Amino acid sequence: MSEFPFTLQSYPQAIIHFDGDAFFAAVEQSIHPHLKGQPVVTGKERGIIACASYEAKALGISRGLSLHEAIRLCPKLKVLPSDYETYSLYSKRMFDIARRYTPMVEEYSIDEGFADLTGLRRVHHTSYEEMARRFQKDIQSELDITVSVGLSLTKSLAKLGSKFRKPAGFTAIPGADIENFLKLTPLDKVWGFGPNTVALLTKYGLKTACDYAVRPEEWAEKLMGKIGRELWGELRGSSLYPVVTEEKSSYCSISKCKTFTAPSSNPEFIWAKLVRNVESAFIKMRRYKLRVRKVGVMLRRQDYRQDGLEIRLSRPVAVTRDVIPAVREMFEQLIERGTAYRTTMVVLGKLEPDGEQQYELFEAPAQVEKRRALSDAVDAVNERYGKHTLSLAPSLFLSQNRQTARDDQPQRKSALLGGETRRQRLRIPRLFLNV
Ligand SMILES: [Mg+2]
Repeated sequence: MSEFPFTLQSYPQAIIHFDGDAFFAAVEQSIHPHLKGQPVVTGKERGIIACASYEAKALGISRGLSLHEAIRLCPKLKVLPSDYETYSLYSKRMFDIARRYTPMVEEYSIDEGFADLTGLRRVHHTSYEEMARRFQKDIQSELDITVSVGLSLTKSLAKLGSKFRKPAGFTAIPGADIENFLKLTPLDKVWGFGPNTVALLTKYGLKTACDYAVRPEEWAEKLMGKIGRELWGELRGSSLYPVVTEEKSSYCSISKCKTFTAPSSNPEFIWAKLVRNVESAFIKMRRYKLRVRKVGVMLRRQDYRQDGLEIRLSRPVAVTRDVIPAVREMFEQLIERGTAYRTTMVVLGKLEPDGEQQYELFEAPAQVEKRRALSDAVDAVNERYGKHTLSLAPSLFLSQNRQTARDDQPQRKSALLGGETRRQRLRIPRLFLNV
């Protein structure tokens, strides 16, 4: 057993973790004040709940539940299509507010981040706790959403803190409080302990995070290797995982998935939906200046059974048209005529920076360059006049066969503020108040 306490210092390092409370639903309530206090969910376009407001959670509705089931639980539920453009704007503003306090901000996900405040007490003339509380208040007053905040000596402890009280919670864990806090923390709450790890540790008789942290370091390392040792240190207050400030632009994979309102057995329609997904995924990929080496296609039947195929491309590809023959081949192999399908999905894997063009043997470089130039021109038009203004021929089928209900656009897509175009939105989402 190790000696107590782990550390006597309050904050040799001061790291906060902040986490938007029911972020997507909260943003919707912020831009539509009449939805405040009401059960709100997003994810209408998928038929599955992406985010539930706290009012909806109180009724037993949570992420991943089917809309059908949710509406059964709460007939008055307000169901909204996801509006990722607006969520991203709020996210950006949230991180910008954090950067007023420190340049050391990590965008961990759209609604979660870390900030390293170490050494900044003099700059802000205040304590770490007060800094963290001010940041939390700024978010609430400027964005009209709440975040839960954890303040401690390491990322792992800060993350435990922000989860401890929600929503709008604030939990500070200075050095002297670490052990008591870890005694209240079940193993499965620790960031990095998956179900298998928890099962293993339970077998050794461990129950809480404290049980783990008081074991000898060598024991942790022997059991779980480097990660086991690092987490052991992090839980005891030695900061081993730095706050990483690079902006999120490296994606391992990009996927696009669309569910149709009514399942369809029309191959032309399903193909058109798939091509539209491929186009969307490629647009996103090119925005991040990446190209792809591996493409996967998945079709889900009406009864939720699904089939998928994946291929490695012979050269990295950035132009949508270049990948269509391969996608078509997979589609032909997957589709069963006469079967109804509800969802198509495409996954772009093995992404790499889009650099110098590579050619295949027997491929005419001039042709490749021409398609590339055409693709860049199409991107430019779509950038200016809206996504899918110009698209590949198969998806023309979609504009002639528009579906309703779940194909609903978020309100933000149709309503423009003064001074905005479809691509150029004001970066001030709160101006969109409709009061
Ligand atoms: Mg959250």
